[in-house]
Amino acid sequence: MRLFDTLVTPILLYNCECWGPYVSDSILERTLEVFYRKQLKRILLVGEKAPNAAVYLELGKLPLKKEIRLRVLKFVLGIRVIPEKQICFQVFKHMMSFENQLKDFVEEVFNDLQLNLHVYMSDFYEETYGEAQHKAILHKANEKWTFDFQEQLMKQVQENVKLKFYSKISENKPFGFKLYLDRVKNRNRRSYVTRMRCGSHRLNVEIGRWTNIQQLSRKCRFCDSGLLEDEEHVILDCNAFKNERQQFFQEICSIMPNFQKTNRDEKLRLIFMDELGIPMITQKFIAEISMRINEKYVS
Ligand SMILES: [Zn+2]
Repeated sequence: MRLFDTLVTPILLYNCECWGPYVSDSILERTLEVFYRKQLKRILLVGEKAPNAAVYLELGKLPLKKEIRLRVLKFVLGIRVIPEKQICFQVFKHMMSFENQLKDFVEEVFNDLQLNLHVYMSDFYEETYGEAQHKAILHKANEKWTFDFQEQLMKQVQENVKLKFYSKISENKPFGFKLYLDRVKNRNRRSYVTRMRCGSHRLNVEIGRWTNIQQLSRKCRFCDSGLLEDEEHVILDCNAFKNERQQFFQEICSIMPNFQKTNRDEKLRLIFMDELGIPMITQKFIAEISMRINEKYVS
């Protein structure tokens, strides 16, 4: 991820201070954001159908739009303090004097941050504000937009039926890169865990969607319980994985003795937590059951 952030993202955002205001949200979504997400999915080792919100949240990333807005704001504020401000500011002032996309963009950004564009353009601004204030504005903007985009992603998680399980295991978890991605070194096993978390697996609850089978009919193919074959069923209940689960729970209990006493939702959150070496235990169990699930899918 660090390599991608260092080598690829700067190319995607190159000169966005100039082109950012002229690219509409829908064009950005169809072009750069699509490419960006495709690469994030490759890094996560999940399929292209993996829900976008989960992909951003697993890697602690936000849509590029946030960074573009921030860079444009930094650029606009910078016009006031660079040595060549005279000519740059005159051009900017001219651009703000008639209707155009740059003006719309800047106004929207300023309004969103409750900044006054008229004050920014006035002589009073130059006498009163400087780099220190700009830093504070950029800090506030970064915090606000990070929060807003996170809220949007969480809303998408709540609304997406594919992410019902993800919403359960990520409740109250802080935003950021999920540490299991670094801790589980085996690529295949890491992929099994991510796919299980993000609803990008071959369980009946998912493959039934592809063929429009009603949810009630997506029953478990591994046992005769007649229950829905979803993540929660195979991890906590399905008899077909009883032995693997027994061994798995024993290992978890050796780290968290009260694990068996917790309720179902809490169990799921603990199983997918990042701390205490749990990812190394969980990946083994999830890989075992995922291999059997995939074999069933192929057959
Ligand atoms: Zn079952």
